[in-house]
Amino acid sequence: MSTFEQKNWFTEVHADVESAYSLKITEKLAEQQSPFQKVEIFQTTQFGKLMTIDGCTMVSSRENFLYHEMMTHPALFTHDNPETVVIIGGGDCGTLKEVLKHQGVKQAYQIDIDEVVTQMAEQYFPELCESNNDPRATIMFDDGIKFMKDAAPNSIDIVIVDSTDPIGPGEGLFNHAFYESCLTALKPGGILVQQSESPLYHLSLLTAMRHAMEDVGFADLQTLNFPQPIYPSGWWSCTLARKSQSIDGFREDDVKQATFETLYYNAEIHQAAKALPNFVKKAFARS
Ligand code: SAM
Repeated sequence: MSTFEQKNWFTEVHADVESAYSLKITEKLAEQQSPFQKVEIFQTTQFGKLMTIDGCTMVSSRENFLYHEMMTHPALFTHDNPETVVIIGGGDCGTLKEVLKHQGVKQAYQIDIDEVVTQMAEQYFPELCESNNDPRATIMFDDGIKFMKDAAPNSIDIVIVDSTDPIGPGEGLFNHAFYESCLTALKPGGILVQQSESPLYHLSLLTAMRHAMEDVGFADLQTLNFPQPIYPSGWWSCTLARKSQSIDGFREDDVKQATFETLYYNAEIHQAAKALPNFVKKAFARS
């Protein structure tokens, strides 16, 4: 993916499908080349602030709740009692904020490779960072691949991979070796959840991710789909993989009685997100 410059518009070109997505902007607020990637912040006219990494849209003020809630609550309400949660990537801190809404969580670790992303989020998206000082939160800057490789076996309830696309530093978060590390580090019944791109544009990648998760020994998988206007195609997914036992049910009564607010997620949305179109089911089937 690449961008082209046009006055007053940010445009992300999706070269693989020869299409593009644009947001009208009034100015570029910041730009920093970190050792890993180029992070930019724009002021848009309708979507609030926009963070991009290497020209790809990451977070906008207006609609990030869709992604952050779906990366978090389905997995945490599927697990019986999630206490230890690890977020790989997620440097904008929006996923961490959603995780910490669950009072049962005792420890949440966020491991992003790039400190610049979190510094920019603290400055331009303070609403996503409001739980960063929660005593249960540990924010680290390190390679998530190494962190999971070194994690103690059977020590984590939920791993959330909130990463960039599988290019650059995110590439190694989408392969067998990484999934093996996650499987080992999860406790029995533990769940890995990973952003798994667009069912429309990236179906072969999504299918390969699922097959790799199965190949390393995850017992059950579930792909959830949800809208995400600023990502390619506007239709996004996350995939849950459970170390042992079925992933199908969730604590529906607890969702209905949740003491915290969500803007998108609820029990009906959780059910609906599980419904997959025929072309997606067909791609997932293994002969
Ligand atoms: N919601 C976004 C999306 O799907 O496009 C992801 C947002 S989040 C900002 C992605 C983060 O993943 C970035 O901050 C990036 O630094 C981080 N990341 C990429 N590779 C990583 C790695 N190997 N270890 C830890 N973090 C990584």
